[in-house]
Amino acid sequence: MQLAQLTLQDIHKQQFDLAILPWGATEAHNFHLPYGTDNYQNGVIIKQAAQLVNDKGVKVLILPEIPFGVNTGQTDIPYVINMLPSTQQAIIKDVATSVFKQCDKLLIFNGHGGNDFKTIIRELGMDFPDKKLLTCNWFQALDAAKYFAQPGDHADEVESSLMMYLYPELVKPLSEAGNGQSKTFKVKALNQSWAWAEREWTKVSNDTGVGNPSKASSEKGERFFNDLCQVISQFLYELASTPLDDFYGY
Ligand SMILES: [Zn+2]
Repeated sequence: MQLAQLTLQDIHKQQFDLAILPWGATEAHNFHLPYGTDNYQNGVIIKQAAQLVNDKGVKVLILPEIPFGVNTGQTDIPYVINMLPSTQQAIIKDVATSVFKQCDKLLIFNGHGGNDFKTIIRELGMDFPDKKLLTCNWFQALDAAKYFAQPGDHADEVESSLMMYLYPELVKPLSEAGNGQSKTFKVKALNQSWAWAEREWTKVSNDTGVGNPSKASSEKGERFFNDLCQVISQFLYELASTPLDDFYGY
């Protein structure tokens, strides 16, 4: 169920167990994928996963997607639309205030690596103690190495394969793609998960890609997409069907 397609009559007829706010980004994706890649992927993945859940008898409602993400490391790339974390926090607060009048759970369905909703949820959670505000990153839900020869970070074999399967008409031939080669930090710890600095994207990659897309294929994208939607739909099902007063167990 997508809120944008429902009428007030439709809304009056049902209760939703879970509302979902898809959140993407508008940014360059190497030379062969469109700026809307994260939004396109997000939209179709959550739609398919939600469809599988609605078939199981729980009701989830997909809100319109927010198309701009945190791109503070890419502000020198033309038409990359950066949305600051503080702006995101203001938007989530407004959306949550409206949604929580009707529904107890709001999931931010994230499709962009630069978005990090955890600290925002910690802060806003204090305003909504009787509700559940959550997030997930679909791109971390499966082990991409089981599906792809060279999974990377951005506009890589994974994203290229997904887009070749889902929106082939929007993908340029792989022969036009850059190789997605990227530099790493000279300070070694910054390449490990326990230390972090923001990457200045144009100093790291010549084509904005991080990860080689050359082995991408529609077939790989299809297999990954189908498994991904299954995993996400199971998550949505458990989330939608678990009462807030019975959220923990051994
Ligand atoms: Zn992307």
